[in-house]
Amino acid sequence: MKRLVVLGGGISGYGSAILAKKEGFEVFLSDRGQIADRYKQKLEEWGVPYEEGSHDEERILRADEVVKSPGIPDTAPIVRKIREQGISVISEMEFAARYMGAAKTICITGSNGKTTTTSLIYKIMRDAGLNVSLGGNIGESFAYSVATGQYDWYVLELSSFQLDGMYRFKADVGVLMNITPDHLDRYDHCFQNYVDSKMRITQNQGAGDCFIFSGDDAVIGGELSKYGLTSRMLPFAAQVQPADEGGYYDGSHCTIRFGEELLTLAIDELQIKGLHNCYNAMAAALATLAAGVPAEVVKRSIYTFSPVEHRLEPVKEADGVLWINDSKATNVDSVWYALESMTRPVVWIAGGTDKGNDYEPLKKFAREKVHTLVCMGLDNAKLEREFAGVVPTIVSTASLDEAMQAARAAARKGDVVLLSPACASFDLFKNYENRGELFKQWVVEHV
Ligand code: ADP
Repeated sequence: MKRLVVLGGGISGYGSAILAKKEGFEVFLSDRGQIADRYKQKLEEWGVPYEEGSHDEERILRADEVVKSPGIPDTAPIVRKIREQGISVISEMEFAARYMGAAKTICITGSNGKTTTTSLIYKIMRDAGLNVSLGGNIGESFAYSVATGQYDWYVLELSSFQLDGMYRFKADVGVLMNITPDHLDRYDHCFQNYVDSKMRITQNQGAGDCFIFSGDDAVIGGELSKYGLTSRMLPFAAQVQPADEGGYYDGSHCTIRFGEELLTLAIDELQIKGLHNCYNAMAAALATLAAGVPAEVVKRSIYTFSPVEHRLEPVKEADGVLWINDSKATNVDSVWYALESMTRPVVWIAGGTDKGNDYEPLKKFAREKVHTLVCMGLDNAKLEREFAGVVPTIVSTASLDEAMQAARAAARKGDVVLLSPACASFDLFKNYENRGELFKQWVVEHV
Protein backbone atom coordinates (compact mmCIF):
# COMPACT_ATOMS: atom_id res chain seq x y z
CA MET A 1 0.00 0.00 0.00
CA LYS A 2 1.30 3.46 -0.86
CA ARG A 3 2.13 5.62 2.14
CA LEU A 4 0.94 9.21 2.01
CA VAL A 5 1.68 11.81 4.64
CA VAL A 6 -0.33 15.00 4.85
CA LEU A 7 1.45 17.94 6.47
CA GLY A 8 -0.90 20.44 8.03
CA GLY A 9 -4.38 19.74 9.38
CA GLY A 10 -6.24 22.79 8.10
CA ILE A 11 -8.89 22.84 5.44
CA SER A 12 -6.61 21.64 2.64
CA GLY A 13 -4.94 18.97 4.77
CA TYR A 14 -7.98 17.27 6.24
CA GLY A 15 -9.57 17.07 2.78
CA SER A 16 -6.44 15.51 1.26
CA ALA A 17 -6.21 12.97 4.08
CA ILE A 18 -9.81 11.88 3.64
CA LEU A 19 -9.44 11.58 -0.13
CA ALA A 20 -6.26 9.55 0.36
CA LYS A 21 -8.05 7.25 2.74
CA LYS A 22 -10.89 6.79 0.29
CA GLU A 23 -8.43 5.99 -2.49
CA GLY A 24 -6.80 3.26 -0.40
CA PHE A 25 -3.58 4.93 0.75
CA GLU A 26 -1.99 4.26 4.09
CA VAL A 27 -2.35 7.83 5.27
CA PHE A 28 -1.05 9.82 8.22
CA LEU A 29 -1.69 13.49 8.96
CA SER A 30 0.74 15.56 10.99
CA ASP A 31 0.35 19.11 12.25
CA ARG A 32 2.90 20.86 14.46
CA GLY A 33 0.18 23.20 15.74
CA GLN A 34 -3.34 22.44 16.88
CA ILE A 35 -6.01 21.00 14.59
CA ALA A 36 -9.51 22.50 14.72
CA ASP A 37 -12.10 20.29 16.39
CA ARG A 38 -14.31 20.07 13.31
CA TYR A 39 -11.43 18.66 11.24
CA LYS A 40 -10.41 16.21 13.96
CA GLN A 41 -13.95 14.95 14.06
CA LYS A 42 -13.93 14.33 10.31
CA LEU A 43 -10.56 12.57 10.47
CA GLU A 44 -11.85 10.31 13.20
CA GLU A 45 -15.04 9.60 11.27
CA TRP A 46 -12.93 8.46 8.32
CA GLY A 47 -10.45 6.57 10.47
CA VAL A 48 -7.45 8.71 9.49
CA PRO A 49 -4.61 8.59 12.06
CA TYR A 50 -3.20 12.01 12.95
CA GLU A 51 -0.96 13.84 15.38
CA GLU A 52 -0.89 17.45 16.54
CA GLY A 53 1.62 19.52 18.50
CA SER A 54 4.68 17.85 16.95
CA HIS A 55 5.98 15.93 13.93
CA ASP A 56 6.85 12.24 14.20
CA GLU A 57 9.83 12.53 11.85
CA GLU A 58 10.54 8.88 11.49
CA ARG A 59 6.98 8.12 10.45
CA ILE A 60 6.84 11.12 8.12
CA LEU A 61 10.09 10.25 6.40
CA ARG A 62 8.76 6.79 5.53
CA ALA A 63 6.21 8.39 3.18
CA ASP A 64 6.18 7.68 -0.54
CA GLU A 65 4.67 11.09 -1.14
CA VAL A 66 3.79 14.15 0.96
CA VAL A 67 0.89 16.54 0.51
CA LYS A 68 1.92 19.85 2.06
CA SER A 69 -0.53 22.55 3.10
CA PRO A 70 0.13 25.87 1.36
CA GLY A 71 0.61 27.62 4.71
CA ILE A 72 3.80 25.66 5.50
CA PRO A 73 6.87 27.32 3.98
CA ASP A 74 9.60 25.36 2.20
CA THR A 75 12.01 26.57 4.83
CA ALA A 76 10.26 24.60 7.62
CA PRO A 77 12.80 22.06 8.94
CA ILE A 78 10.50 19.10 8.36
CA VAL A 79 9.95 20.08 4.72
CA ARG A 80 13.72 20.39 4.22
CA LYS A 81 14.23 16.91 5.62
CA ILE A 82 11.49 15.44 3.43
CA ARG A 83 13.07 16.95 0.36
CA GLU A 84 16.55 15.80 1.37
CA GLN A 85 15.18 12.24 1.34
CA GLY A 86 13.98 12.79 -2.22
CA ILE A 87 10.32 12.35 -1.28
CA SER A 88 7.96 14.15 -3.64
CA VAL A 89 6.08 17.06 -2.09
CA ILE A 90 2.87 18.17 -3.77
CA SER A 91 -0.10 20.40 -3.01
CA GLU A 92 -3.69 19.43 -2.36
CA MET A 93 -4.63 20.48 -5.90
CA GLU A 94 -2.07 18.23 -7.54
CA PHE A 95 -3.19 15.31 -5.42
CA ALA A 96 -6.95 15.74 -5.73
CA ALA A 97 -6.90 16.35 -9.49
CA ARG A 98 -5.69 12.78 -10.00
CA TYR A 99 -9.05 11.51 -8.77
CA MET A 100 -11.54 13.93 -10.28
CA GLY A 101 -12.22 11.85 -13.38
CA ALA A 102 -13.59 13.70 -16.38
CA ALA A 103 -14.48 16.85 -14.43
CA LYS A 104 -13.05 20.15 -15.67
CA THR A 105 -11.42 23.00 -13.81
CA ILE A 106 -11.52 26.76 -13.93
CA CYS A 107 -8.55 28.03 -11.91
CA ILE A 108 -8.08 31.61 -10.81
CA THR A 109 -4.87 33.17 -9.56
CA GLY A 110 -3.27 36.62 -9.33
CA SER A 111 -2.04 38.99 -6.66
CA ASN A 112 -5.44 40.64 -6.19
CA GLY A 113 -8.99 39.91 -7.26
CA LYS A 114 -8.88 36.12 -6.87
CA THR A 115 -11.69 35.75 -4.36
CA THR A 116 -13.98 38.23 -6.08
CA THR A 117 -13.47 36.71 -9.51
CA THR A 118 -13.70 33.14 -8.22
CA SER A 119 -16.95 33.90 -6.38
CA LEU A 120 -18.38 35.57 -9.45
CA ILE A 121 -17.47 32.66 -11.72
CA TYR A 122 -19.01 30.22 -9.26
CA LYS A 123 -22.22 32.26 -9.11
CA ILE A 124 -22.51 32.39 -12.90
CA MET A 125 -21.93 28.64 -13.20
CA ARG A 126 -24.59 27.96 -10.59
CA ASP A 127 -27.04 30.40 -12.13
CA ALA A 128 -26.48 28.52 -15.39
CA GLY A 129 -27.57 25.32 -13.63
CA LEU A 130 -24.19 23.58 -13.91
CA ASN A 131 -23.04 20.93 -11.46
CA VAL A 132 -20.16 22.89 -9.95
CA SER A 133 -18.05 22.93 -6.78
CA LEU A 134 -16.08 25.82 -5.29
CA GLY A 135 -12.68 25.21 -3.72
CA GLY A 136 -9.02 26.05 -3.32
CA ASN A 137 -8.41 29.03 -1.07
CA ILE A 138 -12.14 29.53 -0.73
CA GLY A 139 -15.18 27.41 0.06
CA GLU A 140 -14.78 23.70 0.75
CA SER A 141 -11.52 21.80 0.38
CA PHE A 142 -11.11 20.68 -3.25
CA ALA A 143 -9.87 17.26 -2.14
CA TYR A 144 -12.82 16.80 0.19
CA SER A 145 -15.24 17.68 -2.62
CA VAL A 146 -13.55 15.15 -4.88
CA ALA A 147 -13.79 12.52 -2.13
CA THR A 148 -17.43 13.10 -1.31
CA GLY A 149 -19.14 14.51 -4.39
CA GLN A 150 -19.53 14.11 -8.12
CA TYR A 151 -19.09 17.35 -10.01
CA ASP A 152 -18.70 18.31 -13.65
CA TRP A 153 -16.82 21.52 -12.86
CA TYR A 154 -14.48 22.71 -10.14
CA VAL A 155 -13.90 26.43 -9.72
CA LEU A 156 -10.62 26.78 -7.81
CA GLU A 157 -8.97 29.82 -6.31
CA LEU A 158 -5.22 29.20 -6.34
CA SER A 159 -2.59 31.03 -4.32
CA SER A 160 1.00 31.00 -5.47
CA PHE A 161 1.72 28.53 -2.65
CA GLN A 162 -0.81 26.08 -4.07
CA LEU A 163 0.69 26.52 -7.55
CA ASP A 164 4.17 25.80 -6.21
CA GLY A 165 3.16 22.25 -5.42
CA MET A 166 1.51 21.59 -8.79
CA TYR A 167 3.37 19.74 -11.53
CA ARG A 168 1.12 17.69 -13.80
CA PHE A 169 -2.09 19.51 -12.97
CA LYS A 170 -3.67 21.37 -15.84
CA ALA A 171 -6.30 24.10 -15.68
CA ASP A 172 -8.83 23.67 -18.50
CA VAL A 173 -9.55 27.35 -18.07
CA GLY A 174 -6.76 29.32 -16.37
CA VAL A 175 -7.29 32.89 -15.19
CA LEU A 176 -4.42 35.20 -14.20
CA MET A 177 -5.73 38.51 -12.82
CA ASN A 178 -2.48 40.45 -12.34
CA ILE A 179 0.99 40.14 -10.84
CA THR A 180 2.16 42.75 -8.33
CA PRO A 181 4.59 42.32 -5.42
CA ASP A 182 3.17 40.34 -2.48
CA HIS A 183 4.35 37.58 -0.14
CA LEU A 184 7.96 38.24 -1.10
CA ASP A 185 9.05 36.95 2.30
CA ARG A 186 8.20 33.45 1.02
CA TYR A 187 10.09 33.92 -2.27
CA ASP A 188 13.58 34.86 -1.07
CA HIS A 189 12.58 38.51 -1.56
CA CYS A 190 12.90 37.92 -5.28
CA PHE A 191 9.94 39.18 -7.33
CA GLN A 192 10.82 36.94 -10.29
CA ASN A 193 10.41 33.83 -8.11
CA TYR A 194 6.90 34.96 -7.24
CA VAL A 195 6.18 35.75 -10.91
CA ASP A 196 7.37 32.29 -11.96
CA SER A 197 5.06 30.78 -9.40
CA LYS A 198 2.03 32.68 -10.69
CA MET A 199 2.84 31.73 -14.30
CA ARG A 200 2.48 28.06 -13.36
CA ILE A 201 -1.23 28.60 -13.92
CA THR A 202 -0.44 27.99 -17.61
CA GLN A 203 1.58 24.81 -17.16
CA ASN A 204 0.55 21.77 -19.21
CA GLN A 205 -2.05 23.78 -21.10
CA GLY A 206 -2.50 23.01 -24.78
CA ALA A 207 -4.60 23.96 -27.76
CA GLY A 208 -7.89 22.84 -26.20
CA ASP A 209 -7.45 25.01 -23.11
CA CYS A 210 -8.15 28.67 -22.42
CA PHE A 211 -5.83 31.19 -20.80
CA ILE A 212 -7.50 34.38 -19.59
CA PHE A 213 -5.16 37.14 -18.43
CA SER A 214 -4.79 40.88 -17.93
CA GLY A 215 -3.67 42.46 -21.19
CA ASP A 216 -2.83 45.64 -19.24
CA ASP A 217 -0.38 43.99 -16.88
CA ALA A 218 3.17 44.68 -18.04
CA VAL A 219 4.64 41.90 -15.92
CA ILE A 220 2.38 39.29 -17.51
CA GLY A 221 3.05 40.78 -20.95
CA GLY A 222 6.78 40.38 -20.38
CA GLU A 223 6.39 36.77 -19.30
CA LEU A 224 4.20 35.66 -22.20
CA SER A 225 6.97 36.11 -24.73
CA LYS A 226 9.06 33.58 -22.77
CA TYR A 227 6.46 30.85 -22.73
CA GLY A 228 5.24 30.18 -26.29
CA LEU A 229 1.80 29.14 -25.05
CA THR A 230 -0.51 27.25 -27.37
CA SER A 231 -3.67 27.75 -25.29
CA ARG A 232 -6.52 29.88 -26.57
CA MET A 233 -5.42 33.37 -25.48
CA LEU A 234 -8.12 35.60 -24.01
CA PRO A 235 -6.85 38.93 -22.67
CA PHE A 236 -8.99 41.46 -20.83
CA ALA A 237 -7.91 45.08 -20.88
CA ALA A 238 -8.80 48.72 -20.43
CA GLN A 239 -5.76 50.18 -22.16
CA VAL A 240 -5.37 48.46 -25.48
CA GLN A 241 -8.30 46.73 -27.12
CA PRO A 242 -7.61 43.04 -27.81
CA ALA A 243 -7.24 42.47 -31.53
CA ASP A 244 -9.38 39.37 -31.55
CA GLU A 245 -11.15 37.55 -28.72
CA GLY A 246 -11.10 38.90 -25.16
CA GLY A 247 -12.58 41.70 -23.08
CA TYR A 248 -12.27 45.46 -23.37
CA TYR A 249 -13.44 48.20 -21.01
CA ASP A 250 -13.89 51.58 -22.69
CA GLY A 251 -14.81 53.68 -19.65
CA SER A 252 -18.54 52.95 -19.71
CA HIS A 253 -18.98 49.44 -21.13
CA CYS A 254 -17.17 46.13 -21.10
CA THR A 255 -17.32 44.27 -24.40
CA ILE A 256 -16.48 40.59 -24.25
CA ARG A 257 -15.89 38.44 -27.29
CA PHE A 258 -15.54 34.67 -27.25
CA GLY A 259 -15.93 32.90 -30.59
CA GLU A 260 -19.37 33.79 -31.87
CA GLU A 261 -20.51 35.04 -28.46
CA LEU A 262 -20.60 38.79 -27.87
CA LEU A 263 -21.52 40.30 -24.54
CA THR A 264 -21.76 43.92 -23.47
CA LEU A 265 -21.91 45.01 -19.82
CA ALA A 266 -22.93 48.54 -18.85
CA ILE A 267 -20.77 49.27 -15.83
CA ASP A 268 -23.41 51.48 -14.22
CA GLU A 269 -25.49 48.32 -13.92
CA LEU A 270 -22.79 46.46 -11.97
CA GLN A 271 -23.09 46.31 -8.20
CA ILE A 272 -19.33 45.90 -7.85
CA LYS A 273 -17.56 49.19 -8.46
CA GLY A 274 -14.25 50.43 -9.76
CA LEU A 275 -11.83 49.65 -12.56
CA HIS A 276 -10.55 46.55 -10.79
CA ASN A 277 -14.05 45.12 -10.71
CA CYS A 278 -14.40 45.70 -14.46
CA TYR A 279 -11.33 43.51 -14.85
CA ASN A 280 -12.87 40.95 -12.51
CA ALA A 281 -16.18 40.98 -14.39
CA MET A 282 -14.47 40.60 -17.79
CA ALA A 283 -12.32 37.73 -16.53
CA ALA A 284 -15.35 35.97 -15.07
CA ALA A 285 -17.37 36.50 -18.23
CA LEU A 286 -14.61 35.05 -20.42
CA ALA A 287 -14.13 32.07 -18.11
CA THR A 288 -17.79 31.17 -18.07
CA LEU A 289 -18.30 31.72 -21.79
CA ALA A 290 -15.35 29.36 -22.23
CA ALA A 291 -17.22 26.86 -20.04
CA GLY A 292 -20.17 27.09 -22.41
CA VAL A 293 -22.52 29.35 -20.44
CA PRO A 294 -24.72 31.39 -22.80
CA ALA A 295 -23.93 35.12 -22.97
CA GLU A 296 -27.38 36.16 -21.74
CA VAL A 297 -27.05 34.05 -18.57
CA VAL A 298 -23.57 35.41 -17.92
CA LYS A 299 -24.81 38.98 -18.22
CA ARG A 300 -27.81 38.53 -15.95
CA SER A 301 -25.74 36.76 -13.35
CA ILE A 302 -23.00 39.42 -13.29
CA TYR A 303 -25.55 42.20 -12.86
CA THR A 304 -26.94 40.54 -9.74
CA PHE A 305 -23.55 39.88 -8.10
CA SER A 306 -22.88 41.98 -4.99
CA PRO A 307 -19.46 42.68 -3.41
CA VAL A 308 -17.85 39.90 -1.40
CA GLU A 309 -17.54 40.66 2.33
CA HIS A 310 -14.55 42.85 3.30
CA ARG A 311 -13.89 43.86 -0.33
CA LEU A 312 -15.08 47.43 -0.87
CA GLU A 313 -18.19 46.40 0.99
CA PRO A 314 -20.58 49.30 1.66
CA VAL A 315 -21.67 49.06 5.30
CA LYS A 316 -23.94 52.01 5.95
CA GLU A 317 -24.79 55.49 4.72
CA ALA A 318 -25.76 57.84 7.56
CA ASP A 319 -25.78 61.63 7.83
CA GLY A 320 -24.52 61.78 4.26
CA VAL A 321 -21.42 59.68 5.03
CA LEU A 322 -20.86 56.28 3.44
CA TRP A 323 -18.79 53.77 5.46
CA ILE A 324 -16.93 51.17 3.36
CA ASN A 325 -15.16 48.06 4.64
CA ASP A 326 -12.19 47.08 2.47
CA SER A 327 -10.33 45.24 5.22
CA LYS A 328 -9.08 42.66 2.69
CA ALA A 329 -6.94 45.35 1.07
CA THR A 330 -3.73 44.17 2.69
CA ASN A 331 -1.33 45.39 0.02
CA VAL A 332 -0.66 48.62 -1.86
CA ASP A 333 -2.11 47.54 -5.18
CA SER A 334 -5.54 46.70 -3.77
CA VAL A 335 -5.69 50.10 -2.05
CA TRP A 336 -4.74 51.74 -5.34
CA TYR A 337 -7.89 50.28 -6.89
CA ALA A 338 -9.98 51.22 -3.86
CA LEU A 339 -8.88 54.86 -4.06
CA GLU A 340 -9.20 54.80 -7.83
CA SER A 341 -12.85 53.83 -7.50
CA MET A 342 -13.75 56.60 -5.01
CA THR A 343 -15.99 59.30 -6.42
CA ARG A 344 -16.50 61.28 -3.17
CA PRO A 345 -14.04 62.92 -0.75
CA VAL A 346 -12.40 60.31 1.45
CA VAL A 347 -11.50 59.82 5.08
CA TRP A 348 -9.05 56.97 4.73
CA ILE A 349 -8.28 54.53 7.56
CA ALA A 350 -5.03 52.67 6.91
CA GLY A 351 -2.17 50.99 8.72
CA GLY A 352 -1.30 47.82 10.58
CA THR A 353 1.66 45.54 9.99
CA ASP A 354 3.62 47.04 7.11
CA LYS A 355 4.96 44.38 4.68
CA GLY A 356 7.75 46.60 3.36
CA ASN A 357 5.27 48.72 1.41
CA ASP A 358 6.19 51.27 -1.21
CA TYR A 359 3.41 53.87 -0.84
CA GLU A 360 4.51 56.01 -3.80
CA PRO A 361 1.82 54.66 -6.20
CA LEU A 362 -0.95 55.75 -3.81
CA LYS A 363 0.09 59.36 -3.49
CA LYS A 364 -1.63 60.66 -6.62
CA PHE A 365 -5.09 59.48 -5.58
CA ALA A 366 -4.44 60.32 -1.94
CA ARG A 367 -3.63 63.90 -2.95
CA GLU A 368 -6.74 64.17 -5.12
CA LYS A 369 -9.30 62.41 -2.97
CA VAL A 370 -8.26 62.00 0.67
CA HIS A 371 -8.63 64.91 3.10
CA THR A 372 -7.94 62.93 6.27
CA LEU A 373 -5.76 59.91 6.82
CA VAL A 374 -6.46 58.05 10.03
CA CYS A 375 -3.52 55.77 10.82
CA MET A 376 -4.57 52.75 12.84
CA GLY A 377 -1.71 50.64 14.13
CA LEU A 378 0.90 50.09 16.75
CA ASP A 379 3.54 51.80 14.65
CA ASN A 380 2.24 54.59 12.41
CA ALA A 381 5.53 56.40 11.83
CA LYS A 382 6.06 55.25 8.24
CA LEU A 383 2.54 56.12 7.07
CA GLU A 384 2.71 59.51 8.73
CA ARG A 385 6.07 60.24 7.12
CA GLU A 386 4.99 59.07 3.67
CA PHE A 387 1.75 61.03 3.54
CA ALA A 388 2.88 64.22 5.27
CA GLY A 389 2.29 67.00 2.73
CA VAL A 390 0.21 64.65 0.56
CA VAL A 391 -2.92 64.49 2.72
CA PRO A 392 -3.95 67.69 4.58
CA THR A 393 -4.80 66.03 7.91
CA ILE A 394 -3.17 62.95 9.43
CA VAL A 395 -4.35 61.47 12.71
CA SER A 396 -2.46 58.75 14.53
CA THR A 397 -4.46 56.19 16.53
CA ALA A 398 -3.62 52.89 18.18
CA SER A 399 -6.98 51.12 18.40
CA LEU A 400 -10.08 50.58 16.31
CA ASP A 401 -12.22 52.61 18.65
CA GLU A 402 -9.86 55.58 18.56
CA ALA A 403 -9.58 55.35 14.77
CA MET A 404 -13.33 55.22 14.28
CA GLN A 405 -13.95 58.20 16.52
CA ALA A 406 -11.33 60.17 14.64
CA ALA A 407 -12.88 59.17 11.31
CA ARG A 408 -16.37 60.14 12.46
CA ALA A 409 -15.12 63.50 13.67
CA ALA A 410 -13.35 64.18 10.37
CA ALA A 411 -16.11 63.06 8.00
CA ARG A 412 -18.33 65.69 6.42
CA LYS A 413 -21.61 65.30 4.60
CA GLY A 414 -20.91 63.73 1.20
CA ASP A 415 -17.75 61.91 2.32
CA VAL A 416 -16.77 58.28 2.32
CA VAL A 417 -15.00 56.70 5.28
CA LEU A 418 -12.89 53.97 3.74
CA LEU A 419 -11.12 51.25 5.71
CA SER A 420 -8.49 50.08 3.21
CA PRO A 421 -5.38 49.39 5.26
CA ALA A 422 -2.59 48.40 2.76
CA CYS A 423 -1.21 46.40 5.67
CA ALA A 424 -1.73 43.11 7.43
CA SER A 425 -3.89 43.22 10.52
CA PHE A 426 -1.89 41.21 13.03
CA ASP A 427 -0.79 44.06 15.29
CA LEU A 428 -4.31 44.84 16.55
CA PHE A 429 -6.53 42.06 15.17
CA LYS A 430 -6.67 38.31 14.69
CA ASN A 431 -6.89 38.62 10.92
CA TYR A 432 -8.42 40.79 8.21
CA GLU A 433 -11.87 39.25 8.73
CA ASN A 434 -11.80 40.16 12.41
CA ARG A 435 -10.72 43.71 11.52
CA GLY A 436 -13.58 44.02 9.01
CA GLU A 437 -16.14 42.56 11.41
CA LEU A 438 -15.17 44.98 14.19
CA PHE A 439 -15.27 47.89 11.75
CA LYS A 440 -18.79 46.95 10.70
CA GLN A 441 -19.93 46.38 14.24
CA TRP A 442 -18.67 49.79 15.29
CA VAL A 443 -20.48 51.45 12.40
CA VAL A 444 -23.75 49.69 13.19
CA GLU A 445 -23.53 50.55 16.88
CA HIS A 446 -22.21 54.09 16.77
CA VAL A 447 -23.13 55.75 13.51
P1 ADP B 1 -7.58 38.11 -3.41
O1 ADP B 1 -8.40 36.89 -3.17
O2 ADP B 1 -6.65 37.95 -4.58
O3 ADP B 1 -6.91 38.67 -2.21
P2 ADP B 1 -9.96 39.76 -3.35
O4 ADP B 1 -11.05 39.62 -4.35
O5 ADP B 1 -10.18 39.18 -2.00
O6 ADP B 1 -8.61 39.23 -3.95
O7 ADP B 1 -9.64 41.30 -3.18
C1 ADP B 1 -8.56 41.73 -2.34
C2 ADP B 1 -8.42 43.22 -2.35
O8 ADP B 1 -8.04 43.65 -3.65
C3 ADP B 1 -9.71 43.99 -2.03
O9 ADP B 1 -9.34 45.15 -1.34
C4 ADP B 1 -10.28 44.30 -3.39
O10 ADP B 1 -11.10 45.45 -3.37
C5 ADP B 1 -9.03 44.48 -4.26
N1 ADP B 1 -9.21 43.97 -5.62
C6 ADP B 1 -10.19 43.17 -6.08
N2 ADP B 1 -10.01 42.88 -7.39
C7 ADP B 1 -8.87 43.47 -7.76
C8 ADP B 1 -8.14 43.56 -9.01
N3 ADP B 1 -8.56 42.95 -10.11
N4 ADP B 1 -7.00 44.29 -9.01
C9 ADP B 1 -6.58 44.93 -7.90
N5 ADP B 1 -7.22 44.91 -6.72
C10 ADP B 1 -8.36 44.19 -6.63
